[in-house]
Amino acid sequence: YDDRDGKIWMDGKLVEWRDANVHILTHALHYASSVFEGERCYDGKVFKSREHSQRLLKSGELMDMAIPYTVDEIEAAKRATLDANGLTNAYLRVVAFRGAGEDMGVAASRNPIRMAVTAWEWGNYYGDAKMKGAKLDIAKWKRPSPETIPVAAKAAGLYMICTMSKHAAEAKGCSDAMFLDYRGYVAEATGANIFFIKDGEVHTPLADSILNGLTRQTVIGMLEDRQIKVHQRHIMPEELEGFEQCFLTGSAAEVTPVGQIGDYNFEVGALTREVAEGYEKLVRA
Ligand code: PMP
Repeated sequence: YDDRDGKIWMDGKLVEWRDANVHILTHALHYASSVFEGERCYDGKVFKSREHSQRLLKSGELMDMAIPYTVDEIEAAKRATLDANGLTNAYLRVVAFRGAGEDMGVAASRNPIRMAVTAWEWGNYYGDAKMKGAKLDIAKWKRPSPETIPVAAKAAGLYMICTMSKHAAEAKGCSDAMFLDYRGYVAEATGANIFFIKDGEVHTPLADSILNGLTRQTVIGMLEDRQIKVHQRHIMPEELEGFEQCFLTGSAAEVTPVGQIGDYNFEVGALTREVAEGYEKLVRA
């Protein structure tokens, strides 16, 4: 990803893709002082763009990092990045992090908070699994308690167990891993929220230990508009056996059907397809 043509917005200006580097003493590299967003641009328009920028600022606040840009400035940076790379259908990655500076210890409140925006073409997050139904492993690690780390922040540190769990899942031939949370309830995948369907109703984990994804919120709204009941509640892993369908939601994952979690199987059914198609229409509307 690093040695190629293109432009990256970094700290207020566009730089050459291959020159968008940071110093090795960047605080974020050592202590995970970084927050980010993953977004998709469809036909020239970033879906829920302002909501993503607002969440980035919120994540910064939650992680004690004052990001020195406004929502409007972040919006302009995203626009500039897409335009500079001639992209209309793309994935955007916005990252804000504590840079190198005065301090190299855990505390580094005087170090600058930096920001970068990159964009590139990224197809289906789960590749060919997209409409066939992804296969998920159950992660060994648990989503932490909100008393351990601010779980509502899209913060780099929270992704360490995601990378480990997704690597373990891929080694078993799965596309992703599903986490339980610190209490043992079904939580989310490593980069997506999870939904289940039974008897025409939808069940999804309560957003009390997971990232309350923008796609999750969009899909819940879509279902409710269609008079489909959505239960946001604590879900025990034993319940997986009784669910008929399952799908994941995320800005990158969009709506991806799940065919299998551990030993439990799900059908890629009509309602899952309807949600996936409805979302596809909505993002291009
Ligand atoms: N959970 C996790 C852990 C994620 O990384 C993501 C992707 N941002 C999501 C859920 C889905 O969030 P969104 O729909 O806002 O992309």
